[in-house]
Amino acid sequence: MSVIRADTAIVGGGLMGCWTALMLRRRDPAHRVVVLEKGVVGAQASGVNFGNLRIQGRHPGQLPLAIRAAAIWERLGEFVGEDCEFDATGHLYAARDAAEEVAKAEKTAREAAAHGVPATLLDRAGLAARWPWLKGFRMASWSARDAVANPRLVTPAVARAARAAGTDIREATRVVGAAQANGRFLVEVAGGDTVEAGQLVNVAGAWAPEIAGWFGEGAPVVPAGPPQFVTDAVPYFMRPSVQAVDGSVIARQTRQGQVVVAGYPRGASDPIANRAPVDARRTLAAMGHLVRAVPRLRGAAVVRVWSGIEAYLPDMLPVIGPSGTTQGLFHAFGFCGHGFQLGPGVGAVLADLVLLGRSETPLSLFPITRFAAGEVAQAEQFRREFDARSLAQAGIAQTGIAQTGIAQVGLRQPGQEA
Ligand SMILES: Cc1cc2nc3c(=O)[nH]c(=O)nc-3n(C[C@H](O)[C@H](O)[C@H](O)COP(=O)(O)OP(=O)(O)OC[C@H]3O[C@@H](n4cnc5c(N)ncnc54)[C@H](O)[C@@H]3O)c2cc1C
Repeated sequence: MSVIRADTAIVGGGLMGCWTALMLRRRDPAHRVVVLEKGVVGAQASGVNFGNLRIQGRHPGQLPLAIRAAAIWERLGEFVGEDCEFDATGHLYAARDAAEEVAKAEKTAREAAAHGVPATLLDRAGLAARWPWLKGFRMASWSARDAVANPRLVTPAVARAARAAGTDIREATRVVGAAQANGRFLVEVAGGDTVEAGQLVNVAGAWAPEIAGWFGEGAPVVPAGPPQFVTDAVPYFMRPSVQAVDGSVIARQTRQGQVVVAGYPRGASDPIANRAPVDARRTLAAMGHLVRAVPRLRGAAVVRVWSGIEAYLPDMLPVIGPSGTTQGLFHAFGFCGHGFQLGPGVGAVLADLVLLGRSETPLSLFPITRFAAGEVAQAEQFRREFDARSLAQAGIAQTGIAQTGIAQVGLRQPGQEA
């Protein structure tokens, strides 16, 4: 049994944990950082996601963070020494004829432009002229700065860079408890070792509420993921990624020719059994939507389906910032399916908080304390996507999040009925 001493201990070796470690070491090479990962780095949501680096279509309160992240993605090679298939393909947020879809596309373009993200509205003729393979859309918000990258490559590359910069990254190291004594964190890992650190960063993804719970706070996380599939390779033609406003089509083509597809609604996943099942009916429906939007893909065969375990919160906004109970503890989780793009920005913000105690990036919408107050309203998208079963699995009463106290929040325990 040994004691490992660090300035900052990070729980979770996903994208957020690895970027935080890299940013801390780049900014202060004397700062001792240890990352504790129960499995291998980037194997959870960070490694299985769709790979969209979309700035547009976010809550306006997230745009400053997304823009900070985009600036880092655009210099990825400089940070990690490899491009991880980063490609500024642009992104189309496309509306069919329904008036509310058109209004959403217009709002998306307007909000992006208001934050300096170049987004333009294209009508049916404009879409047909540029992307004749795309069918059935009346209007789209076109964001040329949006990009994609290969999630399987990114987190391991960031972890390698963080290690090269001096981070101690420990895989197969599950954190089983943590407490603060005399201003120092004592973090217990399975097997008996202890990490002693001045600051603790909780970036444990869908498992993060468990860590927050050890410090008397929580958040009503629903673990879920969008169903995804990939086709066999077809000749490359599909340059921007495409997202239908109603979520029925979210697709991009890799340079190697495979088409990666995601679709809403998301399905519940199980962070205890480590399972993210995909309902075959959703895959079939998504195939139909895809072929109607991109008829050229009619002959493409689906070769693999999967999903992942991501933390969703009722207001569809993440938790990012200091603990409400414990000095020196910081949380960042609950990215609601949007965290891949935010990753480097979150790492930079957490490094700000750890090293300076504040960040220039606005975080006022993301405090963990908003749940303790019990007044968090469910976002319309959350209500639409998560059925009673998903909410019950997450221990959230369907009658309203306002009644969900910390005692009810958190993860189902092993063996407990779903
Ligand atoms: C199927 C899918 C598609 C998505 N598509 C997109 C997309 O296109 N664009 C986008 O921006 N976002 C997307 N997302 C969201 C994005 O993947 C996540 O927001 C992001 O990866 C979260 O990163 P993270 O590091 O917080 O979490 P994770 O990647 O889940 O990492 C958390 C880590 O903590 C570890 N951990 C947990 N508990 C402990 C413990 N007790 N001890 C030690 N380690 C622990 C876990 O093993 C895990 O590796 C998608 C998500 C999914 C699931």
